Amino acid sequence: HLSARLASVASLVPLNARIADIGSDHAYLPAALVLDGKIKFAIAGEVVKGPFENAVHEIQAHQLEENIIPRLADGLAAIKDKDNIDTITIAGMGGSLIASILERGKDKLEGVKRLILQPNVGESSLREWLMNNRYQITTEKIIEEDGHIYEIIVAEPSIVPFRYSQYELDFGPFLLENKGPIFVKKWREYLQREGQVINQMKQAKKIPVDKIDQLQRRLEIVK
Ligand code: SAM
Repeated sequence: HLSARLASVASLVPLNARIADIGSDHAYLPAALVLDGKIKFAIAGEVVKGPFENAVHEIQAHQLEENIIPRLADGLAAIKDKDNIDTITIAGMGGSLIASILERGKDKLEGVKRLILQPNVGESSLREWLMNNRYQITTEKIIEEDGHIYEIIVAEPSIVPFRYSQYELDFGPFLLENKGPIFVKKWREYLQREGQVINQMKQAKKIPVDKIDQLQRRLEIVK
């Protein structure tokens, strides 16, 4: 049984996809996808021994050894050519870490048709990496679970380079268009938090004025 966050990631995986779930920890995502009959093959990549062992354990517990291969490796090094991976999922990390995993594993991205990414923070820098590497964002989701708000970004390689405005990079082209209740909540909370930070800075008097101005301008944009 998946968390709402991972269930949302799972819902974006195409039927019979061959997936590499990077930073898989317990391999909950690929395990649920196989048990649901949605996919037959997955790699569960982990760079840390403890989480890797969690994955091994989960795979054994459900007898999924035929379907899910755990690999102890850094980022996309978990992927081998013969795996014929067409979909990569990376969830539960910062956006800049996800971007660096993609950047360092560029040679493994050939043949991959879809990236399903769930950054916990730093969505903007991840979108920027996607744009600069000829990916087109095809879907976005925003969900709330246990008081946390998560964004999920789906991207596919495009022949023509896609340009996004700074607004779209910051807020997400699809999320910005829909402006749903969770999106509004996320940015209202952001405004409240940042407003408090700026007030505290003003009171502290030690922060350079131009730094405060910069934050203030950003606040106005979000507003
Ligand atoms: N993907 C799962 C989820 O969304 O629930 C687990 C998220 S967990 C917070 C992040 C995992 O990413 C950790 O287990 C960590 O070891 C792994 N990780 C971090 N950097 C990695 C890298 N370069 N390559 C593979 N795994 C990595």
